[in-house]
Amino acid sequence: MAHTSSLQHEPSRESVPSGAPRASEKTKEAMAQSEALCRARGARLTPIRRRVLEALHGLDRPVGAYELVDLFGAQGRRMAPITIYRALDFLIEQGLAHRLASRNTYIASSGATSGRETTAVLICDGCGDVNEVISPDVADTVLRVLREQGYQPRSRILEITGRCAHCQDVH
Ligand SMILES: [Zn+2]
Repeated sequence: MAHTSSLQHEPSRESVPSGAPRASEKTKEAMAQSEALCRARGARLTPIRRRVLEALHGLDRPVGAYELVDLFGAQGRRMAPITIYRALDFLIEQGLAHRLASRNTYIASSGATSGRETTAVLICDGCGDVNEVISPDVADTVLRVLREQGYQPRSRILEITGRCAHCQDVH
């Protein structure tokens, strides 16, 4: 289980048919983790929820709900938008996906979180890269501030926009 795939880079998407996510090792690993998590919680990862999560992992970038509708339609697996929204709601509730309110898009969670933690998402204006940062320091501080304000948060995502380290080098 200590196996890490963070160094595996897949620079080419050319062999992938337009928009269809390929089940890479990374995706398979993430799906296995998600399945185990749901099983442990007694939450049902139905085939539809599974398919949506797999697509989010496979695409590995922020995706709009209607883009998923089109994607599944192109694969001959038509799904109504409401079905996809419901699946996304479930995934967000379980901490398996996040909604980026600033762009109205969705991403797969990079780590197995409880869905109750605060995570920071760094969005690059240059390349569109999205990097999720799970930091207990950030989570604790935000939680304390919310408590002081008597505030009940609906979302627990801090969206920060700017330039990633790579794009800062490009002039
Ligand atoms: Zn960038």
